[in-house]
Amino acid sequence: MTWDALVVGGGPAGSATAARLAADGWRVLLLDRAEFPRRKPCGECVNPAGVEALRRLGVLDTVLASGAAPLDGWRIAAGDEASFVGRFPDGVRGLGVPRERLDALLLDHARAAGVEVRTGIKVSDLLRDADDRVRGVAAGGEEIPARIVVGADGLRSVVLRRLGLLARPPRLRKLALTAHVRGLDGLRGCGQLRARGRGCVGVAEVGGGLANVTVVVPGARAEEVSGDRAGYFDAMLRRYGLDGAARVDDVLATGPFDYPARRAVADGALLVGDAAGYYDPFTGQGIYRALRGAELAAGTIGAALRARDTSAAALMPYHHAHRRAFADGERLQRIVEAFVSRPALLRWAAGRFTRRPALGDAIIRATGDVRPPRSLLRPGLVAQLVL
Ligand SMILES: Cc1cc2nc3c(=O)[nH]c(=O)nc-3n(C[C@H](O)[C@H](O)[C@H](O)COP(=O)(O)OP(=O)(O)OC[C@H]3O[C@@H](n4cnc5c(N)ncnc54)[C@H](O)[C@@H]3O)c2cc1C
Repeated sequence: MTWDALVVGGGPAGSATAARLAADGWRVLLLDRAEFPRRKPCGECVNPAGVEALRRLGVLDTVLASGAAPLDGWRIAAGDEASFVGRFPDGVRGLGVPRERLDALLLDHARAAGVEVRTGIKVSDLLRDADDRVRGVAAGGEEIPARIVVGADGLRSVVLRRLGLLARPPRLRKLALTAHVRGLDGLRGCGQLRARGRGCVGVAEVGGGLANVTVVVPGARAEEVSGDRAGYFDAMLRRYGLDGAARVDDVLATGPFDYPARRAVADGALLVGDAAGYYDPFTGQGIYRALRGAELAAGTIGAALRARDTSAAALMPYHHAHRRAFADGERLQRIVEAFVSRPALLRWAAGRFTRRPALGDAIIRATGDVRPPRSLLRPGLVAQLVL
């Protein structure tokens, strides 16, 4: 049997794309190499625009009922000297939720929509016809044909690489260590980012008395970490002043993150979520981009399947919509990263933001996708930053 759509990866991008296509009546197969529930290295904060995307998908009530923690804003600290708080507008919230729970709920939602989900199956290659057009995947010793293959297989996507669409190897060399901890009371709906030197740590409640702690380490220190990542992580809890924190699970490691894609479409294939290009996790926009990308992808794929044309040309509307939706956010990520990786610059900015609270709110709202990044260019705000 030839599937209408074969989705590689059951993270937020894959589950949401598959669910939307199946709800429209297409025959959809989703493959993931992992067994669910599975953990995923992530700060586990869904920004406010991501929360709205969960609502549009029809899963927000289920996610809230699972015990997700509300997130009203962020406190950013540069060393011990300067810190500021940025808040989302009244009535607008993000959520902290463990990925093992969120991703399992999204996958269940896809199953309920009619998607056939097969886990524990790794996709190793793409199948192509005589014209080099993608016509399915090779997975677990089987050849599985499909009218379109959706690469939603995250960072280091095999679909992206087999399509030859990886723009270049990663330049930004960083490593992240993630685990859950108990004993961090007093966050009260406000996430924290603490930068020291060229490293930083993010902390946010994820419900059930747990907080996610994600330590970002410059690539130059990767060797130091690799010998004993749990020991390194526990030492960082103390270095960043998180003394009351007690780790409750294993430390996950990932990096680098910087995998740009040249294009998000090819003949018979399309990329969504991290597989369509990723830069840096600091601004916490990835889950929103995965869910919003799924909305854009499902619209274009549905039209292409109906027209019986899944060529790259027919899928280009998705590529353009993807660029329009995320290009400004990517520029903002690069600016934020430039500050975070230069301690003196970050201290200067944090000092400014402390004295001018409107600046803190504006940057947190832009990175939370509540306001467009261009809102930061309002003359009044720019004047507050530079004068
Ligand atoms: C350190 C760190 C912190 C982050 N913090 C945040 C945050 O707080 N908020 C936020 O919004 N974003 C955050 N992000 C980004 C976010 O995690 C991603 O953007 C998001 O998970 C992307 O979803 P996805 O569905 O594209 O990919 P993923 O969630 O990575 O899912 C990909 C799936 O594909 C499967 N897969 C991979 N290869 C194959 C294969 N060959 N065959 C079959 N299956 C395969 C994997 O098992 C996985 O289930 C962070 C990222 C990092 C690295």
